[in-house]
Amino acid sequence: KKFVYDFMEGSMDLKPLLGGKGANLAEMTRIGLPVPSGFTVTTEACNEYYVKNTVLWDELKQEIFQHLSYLEESSGKRFGDIHNPLLVSVRSGSVFSMPGMMDTILNLGLNDESVEGLAKVTNNERFAYDSYRRFIQMFGDVVLHIGKYKFDTVLEKRKQEKQVENDIDLTSEDLKFLTDEFKKIIEREVKHKFPQDVKQQLLMAIEAVFKSWNNPRAKVYRRINDIPDHLGTAVTIQMMVFGNMGETSGTGVAFTRNPSNGEKKLFGEFLMNAQGEDVVAGIRTPQEIQALNEKMPDAYNKFIELCELLEKHYMDMQDIEFTIERGELYILQTRNGKRTTNAAINIAVDMVDEGLISKKEAIMRVDPQQLDQLLHPTFDEEDLKNAEVITRGLPASSGASYGKIYFSPEDVVKANSSGEKAILVRHETSPEDIEGMVASVGILTARGGMTSHAAVVARGMGKCCVAGAGEVKIDEASRIFKVRDQVFHEGDYISLNGNTGDVYSGEIKTENPQLTGNFQIFMGWADQYRRLKIRTNADTPRDTKQALEFGAEGIGLCRTEHMFFDDTRIPVVRRMILSRTIEQRKKALDLLLPMQRQDFKEIFEAMGEKPVTIRLLDPPLHEFLPHEEEDIRALAKGMEISYQQIKEVVSDLKEFNPMLGHRGCRLAITYPEIYQMQVQAIIEAAVELKKEKGLEVVPEIMVPLVGELKELQYVKDIITKTVDEIIEDSGVDIKYLVGTMIEVPRAAITADEIAKDAEFFSFGTNDLTQMTYGFSRDDAGAFIKEYVDKNILEKDPFQRIDRDGVGKLMEIAVDLGKKTRADLKIGICGEHGGEPNSVEFCHMLNLDYVSCSPYRVPIARLAAAQAAI
Ligand code: ADP
Ligand code: MG
Ligand code: MG
Repeated sequence: KKFVYDFMEGSMDLKPLLGGKGANLAEMTRIGLPVPSGFTVTTEACNEYYVKNTVLWDELKQEIFQHLSYLEESSGKRFGDIHNPLLVSVRSGSVFSMPGMMDTILNLGLNDESVEGLAKVTNNERFAYDSYRRFIQMFGDVVLHIGKYKFDTVLEKRKQEKQVENDIDLTSEDLKFLTDEFKKIIEREVKHKFPQDVKQQLLMAIEAVFKSWNNPRAKVYRRINDIPDHLGTAVTIQMMVFGNMGETSGTGVAFTRNPSNGEKKLFGEFLMNAQGEDVVAGIRTPQEIQALNEKMPDAYNKFIELCELLEKHYMDMQDIEFTIERGELYILQTRNGKRTTNAAINIAVDMVDEGLISKKEAIMRVDPQQLDQLLHPTFDEEDLKNAEVITRGLPASSGASYGKIYFSPEDVVKANSSGEKAILVRHETSPEDIEGMVASVGILTARGGMTSHAAVVARGMGKCCVAGAGEVKIDEASRIFKVRDQVFHEGDYISLNGNTGDVYSGEIKTENPQLTGNFQIFMGWADQYRRLKIRTNADTPRDTKQALEFGAEGIGLCRTEHMFFDDTRIPVVRRMILSRTIEQRKKALDLLLPMQRQDFKEIFEAMGEKPVTIRLLDPPLHEFLPHEEEDIRALAKGMEISYQQIKEVVSDLKEFNPMLGHRGCRLAITYPEIYQMQVQAIIEAAVELKKEKGLEVVPEIMVPLVGELKELQYVKDIITKTVDEIIEDSGVDIKYLVGTMIEVPRAAITADEIAKDAEFFSFGTNDLTQMTYGFSRDDAGAFIKEYVDKNILEKDPFQRIDRDGVGKLMEIAVDLGKKTRADLKIGICGEHGGEPNSVEFCHMLNLDYVSCSPYRVPIARLAAAQAAI
């Protein structure tokens, strides 16, 4: 089996094998771009390495050294040569880009002898030792796991002694000194000398990259981004080119379009006399890419030309790494650039206008989950006028947010889990901070540019981020930061504007965005292609209006019990529940009737004649009851019965397993008058609207928790009798449907029976998942995380439909249901209705619609379009 591919043998199509980086380097080589030569060890080799219990086997080593000797031939240099050594980088790269998550080593092949050769052959001792000290540090960090800071401390100390500010001001003597000190650190930390054998260096580095696939931050990143663990990483070995050879050399990163707003203009940064990560790591403040035009017009023009070429070739916005070695331009990486959703939509729409991509392709370019970013608030204009700007940084990732400041990712995670909005304030972020970044509402850094770690990661997550706010002086130990003479303590509020880079003290109110322009054009295209209808779960007129703005085509789930929790209603509801006779209960229900009728009227009216599915009362009754002694006493007083009596009823209603207890249609079988009242409210609302406004509302009345046809028949009988009476009395004819939720497994597997009396099905996949797995929804959170960490479950089944189990039941229910009733309307109303992967599954099952919370409606619209393409 072939485990190593030369750049000349590969192409973009081999991405699964070569990883994104390796495949694109091969592709660029193939189309004739200036890419330093090299070869890639495949992801299969990585997986094999783990199968073989993390040892590199002989055949693989031979294949690697074979390719290394080709590289020696083509470069005219020899690996480890003491006169003119070949140096290489060892780079990680998985199929899906995971920026900064795994490790790379530069300048490999240097040792105490070859560094002298490099100094002579380049006539540049400073450069040779600059490369060597970098190599030792990276090797120490990545291969030997010695904290980077141990090296940095020595470096900083030397800079102080020499009273210089930047690395580039260090002399060749200083760098030699650092080289020696760094070697000492290694010997001290790992008890053996820094390896002088270059082949050993190479093999150790390759192993380190394989191992970095499983480092904690890479694992977290994969979990957040749904990247499977079994893919493995490729390792690319590439001849070095040097941006640190002096003032005609440099390195940089650029995006072919603005990754923050999508503007069609080259966007990037570079540093002269620098190497590798210097730009990203915020070592010095980089210059804007356009300034390269003055310094080195030839290289700049060539770069512009290549950027255009790459964008056309990949038909997408590119994120490009380049290095200039003594005036000569090299491309070191290209990939489809990460971008904010705002940019993604603008770029997709622009590229359709430019004739570069089709509408279908444009739709596929935007991640539905990410639409969420756009739906979130911006600062309230009025509030903003009075707000005090304390400082300004770079507008690294758009959006607006306010929150309490915390200085460590752990504190942010803690604050977030106790329900606070937290802003992470850091000198600069590093990949270890990732969980804190996820848990934050915004990120502020004191150092680093637009392509710094914080900026890139925040944009990917759609988090608001202000980077490189140089005036912010952080004192982590005392948990404060200062801006000139102002001091901000942990827990103080600040606000961030990721569109301008402004930082404010205090909280600034935020408001909902205007979804116009390219967003509407784009969503309009999505609507052209999707087959699924998108409904919303809405319980109040306010939710309903919001959902309509987001494009909902109906209500798939209106939970009537949410109307009961209102302060003025809950006492009446409690009275109803605590009644000991039917008469008492009916009295309480009579009070609730007009309230519910009014709610339904408003919801129906807001929806026009769009379909509305209303679920009759579902939760166990004790959820409505007071449990604190104080509340029980108050209730007793109000109802003029004894405290003791109420306490008894409350404890009678207590269940061991309420989610499997007396709830759903089971309530109606015990207390038919509750559903009677609800149906009456629904139908009377429809009657009134028809009379008053001429609206033809067709209510869809939904019975929860049915598992047995006779249950449904019993309840349906109550419903039809109630409706018939109202129609007769009012003389107004109302069309309506009676259907059921499919959420008990028995209902799914007897769906042909159930469909005899159900005119529609709606999958309640929350309960269906709970009962299929036997995982309590309310308790499973604690252990499901373990299941996911240990790869027993790929994903929490409450978040994404479990296609093999729960999905199978759905499939059975659809088939059986349609056998009985060919025109059966079927939808889904669980949380899954707004989750793209589950939406795709619903499309495949040929459902009629999905229903989700208002803010997820645009996500579902796009996911449904993507499923149909
Ligand atoms: P990451 O995936 O973290 O971006 P890379 O493998 O791209 O890591 O490398 C890190 C840095 O080193 C990048 O700036 C890259 O351009 C630079 N680099 C990698 N290989 C070489 C090389 N052969 N010559 C010069 N610079 C290189
Ligand atoms: Mg890179
Ligand atoms: Mg349910």
